[in-house]
Amino acid sequence: MIELNDWKRAVIKVGSGLIAPGGVKCSSKYTLPIAAFITECINRGKEIVLVSSGAVAAGLSTQPQLLKKNHRSIPEKQALAAIGQTLLMASWSRFFDFPCSQILLTYDDIHNRKRFVNAKNTIKKLLELGTLPIVNENDTVATEELKVGDNDNLAAYVAMLAEADLLIICTDIDGLYDSDPKKNKNAKLIPVVEKIDSSIFQIASNSKNPIATGGMRTKIEAAQKATELGIDTIIINATKSEVFDYLLNGKLMGTIFKKNKNPIAAKKLWMLHALQTNGKIYIDTGAAKAILKKGASLLPSGITNVEGEFKKGEAVEIYVKDGNDLKLIAKGITQYNSNELKKIQGKKSIQIKNILGYQTTEEVVHRDELVLTELE
Ligand code: GLU
Repeated sequence: MIELNDWKRAVIKVGSGLIAPGGVKCSSKYTLPIAAFITECINRGKEIVLVSSGAVAAGLSTQPQLLKKNHRSIPEKQALAAIGQTLLMASWSRFFDFPCSQILLTYDDIHNRKRFVNAKNTIKKLLELGTLPIVNENDTVATEELKVGDNDNLAAYVAMLAEADLLIICTDIDGLYDSDPKKNKNAKLIPVVEKIDSSIFQIASNSKNPIATGGMRTKIEAAQKATELGIDTIIINATKSEVFDYLLNGKLMGTIFKKNKNPIAAKKLWMLHALQTNGKIYIDTGAAKAILKKGASLLPSGITNVEGEFKKGEAVEIYVKDGNDLKLIAKGITQYNSNELKKIQGKKSIQIKNILGYQTTEEVVHRDELVLTELE
């Protein structure tokens, strides 16, 4: 059995399939052992943030007329989330002697740096105050295109916000298998994933539990985000209560995705995964080499083309030509807007002042504000 490193702060993600095994109404069947585990962890001085799905399923229990509908409208789903969220909170709160606190987040709260920092400070304070923060997506106000969309990825963002050292994804299968165990009885469990690459994504079947939003793919996406930041991520079968007994003894029954040994700083990770880009900068191979191999900043001389309209301070994608293909190598915050860049592209930094009449900085994207898409 795999030994789990000691950890101090964990984000625990519990999916709808565990909260509402029948598809409607919060059940205590699996959440009670999870709550007992959370309490025991807190008694041992650990800190927990819970990411809980199940609002829509809980809301359905009060609206039998919507239960029969195959396709619910967006306002119907949003209303169900609003009704169910209070039931969900009540369902969790009854298990604990300490207060629970509710945080509803959506894509915007993670992609807007100010709101990100704000949410981070609140979570920190809620933990200091001895509460159990319970997070869900703000389904009631988030429109489809502005949602994180699944609570696996949301949990990874929360692990980043909470600066957790462990992400625990609770599901109803034993971990990551080399093929879909529901279709192939010879499927083998993979206990340890040292590095998440495309082969890991390939084996993640897209088969889904009808109640759950994400399949294995979203769990691996979440693990990728978290491990890059230095957060070990585990997938466990929370329908088996013995899994929690083992966990409390530092042993894992499930799959661990090992944290990256050289985690990138939180700001860079946020830039990579969360920051919305507004344009593209194409650079030559010399500049790409300097950025990739020498830790250099992006200077105007290396720029060959600029696409899109963006302002100073916005994020851009940086591409290099690789044979006939364009390769995304980095994301970064630009010090010049797209019009300025079109004028200074290919020019030396000392010419900036002559061309524009002013110079903000020598670099177009400073190294500290640049993150490589393929992490070293
Ligand atoms: N936020 C959704 C809910 O509470 C669940 C999303 C998910 O399970 O990934 O119903």
